[in-house]
Amino acid sequence: QIYLYQNEFVAKEALHISPEDRGYYFGDGLYEVIRVYNGKLYEAGPHFARLTRTAEALRIPLPFTEDELSAQLEKLIQVNELHEGSVYMQITRGAAPRSHPFPASAEPILMAYTTSYQRPVATLEEGITAVTTDDIRWLRCDLKTLNLLPNVMAKQHAMDQGAGDVIFHRSGTVTESSSSNVMIVKNNVIKTHPANNLILHGITRLVVLRLAKQEGIQLEEAAFTVDELLNADEVFITSTTAEVTPVIQIDGKAIGSGKPGPLTRQLQTAFEATIPSK
Ligand code: PMP
Repeated sequence: QIYLYQNEFVAKEALHISPEDRGYYFGDGLYEVIRVYNGKLYEAGPHFARLTRTAEALRIPLPFTEDELSAQLEKLIQVNELHEGSVYMQITRGAAPRSHPFPASAEPILMAYTTSYQRPVATLEEGITAVTTDDIRWLRCDLKTLNLLPNVMAKQHAMDQGAGDVIFHRSGTVTESSSSNVMIVKNNVIKTHPANNLILHGITRLVVLRLAKQEGIQLEEAAFTVDELLNADEVFITSTTAEVTPVIQIDGKAIGSGKPGPLTRQLQTAFEATIPSK
């Protein structure tokens, strides 16, 4: 397993990371996960745009251009002979003695690796269950930062309940899931939370927005309540790894017929058609 660390390709065992890395102390950094289908980065442009936007908001100067990073990630895919899976990359503010203010002289640190896995065919086919939980995160959920403790706690809460994932709400308004966006279907209209500061602006969400338009399905970027969620005809989540995954039961209540619905299926088919075959 070869990692990219700064500008070097290093075996995992040979990788030395400073204990003073601010990612380790403070979660002071950002990350991205880009899907790799057939050895190629999927929707790389929007992922790089989100990375740049987060870096600017966190005031972490990126030490490379998008083209340079893209070239390095492609090389990483090659050296690891990755066909199916994803690339994970993170950039921290740098390494310095522990102190809250930005260090005067710290260089941002890039680390990236690849993971090999297949498309989640079983859950794509059968769907998952979910439980609702309070969204206790901060008010910049649009930034893809390393601070994922609320998401980790929420996901474990779902596991403890025997559910596949959580669906977050703020005072009854559904935001998103622990690592995916949420969409509902009611009377053939899709609703999903607007891309503001309360959710991550998912790249798969964007793809689905585009596909809905292409398929002539009405879609509203509008907030909806937990009540609407539980009484929806269909519910699905979207993410880089989950693609378009049906949610068939929430808080023990069957959604619609308790099986993946027709619009979810239609979008899954449309999504599959966007996957490069070679
Ligand atoms: N919301 C959250 C909180 C996430 O962590 C993710 C996954 N990165 C998403 C939504 C989905 O984003 P994407 O489609 O870009 O993977």
